[in-house]
Amino acid sequence: MKKQFKSESKRLLDLMVGSIYTHREIFLRELISNASDAIDKLCYLSLTDDKVGLERDDFKIEITADREARTLTVTDNGVGMTEQELEQNLGVIAKSGSLKFKREHADAPDDVDIIGQFGVGFYSAFMVASRVTVRTRAYGSDTAYQWVSEGSDGYTIEPCDKATVGSEVIMELKPDAEDDDFSEYLEEYTLHSLIKKYSDYIRWPILMEVTKSRRVDGEMDKDGKPAVKWEDYTETEVINSRVPIWKRAKSETTDEDCFEFYKQQFGDEVDPASVLRVNAEGAAVSYTAMLFIPTAAPYNYYTREFEAGLRLYASGVLIMENCAALLPEHFRFVRGVVDSPDLSLNISREMLQHDRQLKTIASNIEKKIKSELSRLLSSEPEKYAAFYDAFGLQLKYGTLADYGTHAEALRDLLLFRSSKAGKLVSLADYVASMPPDQKYIYYACGKDLQSLERLPQAEVLRERGYDVLLLTDEVDEFVTRSLEKYDEKEFRSVSADDLGLQTEDEVKSAQTAEAERRELLDFVKNELNGKVVAVTLSRNLKSAPVCLSTRGSVTLEMERYFNAQRNTDVPAGSVKAERVLELNASHPAFAALERALDGNRELAGKYARVLYAQAELAAGLMPEDVLGFISLTSELIV
Ligand code: ADP
Repeated sequence: MKKQFKSESKRLLDLMVGSIYTHREIFLRELISNASDAIDKLCYLSLTDDKVGLERDDFKIEITADREARTLTVTDNGVGMTEQELEQNLGVIAKSGSLKFKREHADAPDDVDIIGQFGVGFYSAFMVASRVTVRTRAYGSDTAYQWVSEGSDGYTIEPCDKATVGSEVIMELKPDAEDDDFSEYLEEYTLHSLIKKYSDYIRWPILMEVTKSRRVDGEMDKDGKPAVKWEDYTETEVINSRVPIWKRAKSETTDEDCFEFYKQQFGDEVDPASVLRVNAEGAAVSYTAMLFIPTAAPYNYYTREFEAGLRLYASGVLIMENCAALLPEHFRFVRGVVDSPDLSLNISREMLQHDRQLKTIASNIEKKIKSELSRLLSSEPEKYAAFYDAFGLQLKYGTLADYGTHAEALRDLLLFRSSKAGKLVSLADYVASMPPDQKYIYYACGKDLQSLERLPQAEVLRERGYDVLLLTDEVDEFVTRSLEKYDEKEFRSVSADDLGLQTEDEVKSAQTAEAERRELLDFVKNELNGKVVAVTLSRNLKSAPVCLSTRGSVTLEMERYFNAQRNTDVPAGSVKAERVLELNASHPAFAALERALDGNRELAGKYARVLYAQAELAAGLMPEDVLGFISLTSELIV
């Protein structure tokens, strides 16, 4: 019975079939890499299971071209697939690369260029084959199964004969057309160069029959000398050099080679920001690592779905696909491979968590990543900016995790938006450009840059030539708390009621001025009926009549943050900032308020409430009673 592919698989298949010439050749790389994965799996099983009956040297991948039948076959003696696995794995597109493809290109199915960019897996066989047969027997199973498909019209699965465990992918090549040469994939030369180009680093031997020539002693020629005669013969040869790319000397591999490897292996379409090659020989443990710092975040990066970790090999045998213990949480975006001869092969996953050698590797790796990121920041700022755009948030979370333990290590990697420079700057940049009299690192937190730029409190800072960091990520305020200070300079929010700008004398005279206006300030506070903890004469306002600041540790941003959280232990509305209404005594509105208080207290009350609503709006808050505010302002107009 013919079964149908799931609809998205069908679309991808149609795309494969119509794919343009230059992309086709990757099909071989995809099938070889599947074969290699299958061998990895069986090899791993063989470490603990004697019944596998194969030694490491017995594993191999074979490529066979049959020119008469026009078939190309990729054979492996890996783990194979059960009937269910055949159904699950080859009946649906469910794998990373393909899923990503589906998500990002759903609206552009004709854009075939993307095929060349990342692995589309098994389906790529249909770029060159009109019919694909997979004959496979799973390890531990007596029955073999055969999956056959001619492309998007569906597939069949039925039992078949196969003596050994493993899989065989048989491709019946499409007929050649005028400028569409499929026969080339039967040619020894093409196959040889494709294996070299894409699969040279595959650890398992890739065998192929190659034609060679040898000299034979022929008859004598007419001068009585032996005639030079050559004959062709065939021999099976290992084509790939088998040294994994991370094991090769730096001089033998360019960064581009490594990037290519990264894109193939980790399903990214974009070149990473950098590759880090580590070759460590230590007393405790030796290892080789190739690490990549990506430029783009996978679509599921900030979700639970994303599996962080490095690929871990022990003496070249893959023992774990995503070893999370190798990376600290704040660098979980790093991808790559770690290979160590010192790790025990049959170590269990639970033991890995506590393994001392692994811990040593992890802590070395953390240092390397950190110094590479610092290097990027200082020498390749554009690359760093792209990286930071994708993963800056992760670094910020890192400063908060584990009670701020990593804050110090991470602070130099953080960037914040400078209102003066109009771009992202590091804290070191910020501090370096501080005027000598500036004591604090000023920042403003809020949702959008535009309103932060125009916060009334910031005006006085700007006038003094002080820069303000504009923070728009929800975590930013917590980050400043966690960091506390940088280079002995404390962080200070522009919406704190004391910006620390005045000298002692100035503070004293401000206090006197406040005492003189006590009656007015008390009146306003009273009128606001518990909304504010204090009404003060502002020391910071310039052209704006009022502003809202806060006293104590809870800021307006935090209040907003906690009240937006669901499922927390903090009941909604319970975190409240202590609001302070600051009045600008040199503003005409203040004079009007004073006059009203003299003769018309009712009007003065209205002024007080309108001014408070203005302060709320400027701070990015909706007035609590919007309709009340509207009628109040209308009353004042008429
Ligand atoms: P990917 O390789 O990205 O997972 P593919 O479409 O290439 O996606 O393959 C789908 C799945 O089919 C693989 O994950 C693997 O489980 C299975 N598979 C493919 N080829 C083989 C093979 N030669 N031996 C065993 N399993 C295979």
